[in-house]
Amino acid sequence: MSNNQIWQAVLGEVELNLSKANFTTWFKSTFISSFEDDKIVICVPNTFTKAWLENKYHKQISVALENISGKNITEIFYKVEIKKNNPVGDLFKKIKIKKNENNNISINKFSLNNKYTFENFVVGKGNELAHAACQAVAANPGNAYNPLFVYGGVGLGKTHLLQAIGHDVSIKTDKVLYVSCEKFTNDYIDSVKNGKAKEFKERYRNVDLLLIDDVHFMAGKDGTQQEFFHTFNELHNADRQIVLTSDRQPKSIPSLEKRLLSRFEWGMIVDVTQPDIDTLVAILETKCREKNYPLEKNILYYIAENIKNNIRELEGALNKIIAFNEFNNSQPTIESTKNILGSILVNTKSKAITNKDIIDLVSKFFNISEKDIIGKSRKKELVYPRQIIMFLMRSEKGTSYPTIGNEIGGRDHTTAMHAFNKIKRELEENEKTKQDIESIKQLINNSDN
Ligand code: ADP
Ligand code: MG
Repeated sequence: MSNNQIWQAVLGEVELNLSKANFTTWFKSTFISSFEDDKIVICVPNTFTKAWLENKYHKQISVALENISGKNITEIFYKVEIKKNNPVGDLFKKIKIKKNENNNISINKFSLNNKYTFENFVVGKGNELAHAACQAVAANPGNAYNPLFVYGGVGLGKTHLLQAIGHDVSIKTDKVLYVSCEKFTNDYIDSVKNGKAKEFKERYRNVDLLLIDDVHFMAGKDGTQQEFFHTFNELHNADRQIVLTSDRQPKSIPSLEKRLLSRFEWGMIVDVTQPDIDTLVAILETKCREKNYPLEKNILYYIAENIKNNIRELEGALNKIIAFNEFNNSQPTIESTKNILGSILVNTKSKAITNKDIIDLVSKFFNISEKDIIGKSRKKELVYPRQIIMFLMRSEKGTSYPTIGNEIGGRDHTTAMHAFNKIKRELEENEKTKQDIESIKQLINNSDN
């Protein structure tokens, strides 16, 4: 048997015990480079795969090798070696040159959330494979798996992973573009309306890494799908990396063009599923560290056991507990946690609060008197809370702009509209505003009104 035949037989055996996704992730582009006596060298495409095979699959590989070769193998080496004609080397060369030519910071980096990095991502059951595939792509953009398609339920870390790739790759190239599929769609529609097809193409087809979040949004949108098809082809042909996320697998996206579906399935498809309790607790610990608010283990376990479906909700619960205790100047206990979570678990609907309550809570939250907050002063420390009140009156209660203006010191409706739009925009761009609104909303939900 040639080395190649042996390896194919080994892969055949290993494949039996692994999911297809796992198998492709770790065994694609591997081969035997030498097999002498009882020593064998297996080549792998990157150090990440090397580590993974050494730690996770070594035993299986070694058993299969012995079965198939009939030899007693004493040493197996894993060596990083990329097959010739591999585009990755070229891509990195190109990227390096571009990086030197252009030292401007890319505008696109600003669309990445600084917290969504690999360092801040807790790996555990449920996301292990997705995490590994994302790291492999970040290490070898354009080569490892193209496209990489990550899917799974809401709040399980897809956006986090997607942006983590963005952060890593943006060290090598400025041309990293992260967008939600909704933004891609809107940009496309605007470009058609305003005759800016050329600008649109330049923006989307001239990147080294394109990260599109929530592609299921493309369902049934024929024009967008067509445009994306061409964007995809152009990038893919040039070995530019594409990573997509979705709440479901490609074939479950309704009215998705066949040719697009087949492209989504070209590379690698991985899912994220619900993490186990220990992983959830580890995630909570990371979030507590980020927020600089340590909580006892038993409280963390209590939260994790009660809210396990969605990490975003888990974080929401944590924020709520922190907000409650900071607001009341109290120490978190398991009892108060039960009470706070009780209201989330039993009654997730927001209570009937009034505009007066909103003014009341926001002024307390910012420690400002009600008189000042609706008064005439345009000091920055007053304007921001005032705008938050107007935003919440609109978003939580659907109050009309003229009424909002009226209730906030007899202001014009355009002021209310401006405030609403400003905070809405900041919610997307500004972490602090997002946190403030989240905390205040939690206070609203938790108030006794
Ligand atoms: P999705 O895009 O799948 O809906 P997100 O990526 O927005 O979910 O994740 C929701 C929240 O949960 C984010 O704050 C994210 O940082 C956090 N999160 C999810 N998974 C993890 C994880 N494994 N480690 C740390 N934080 C996580
Ligand atoms: Mg998301």
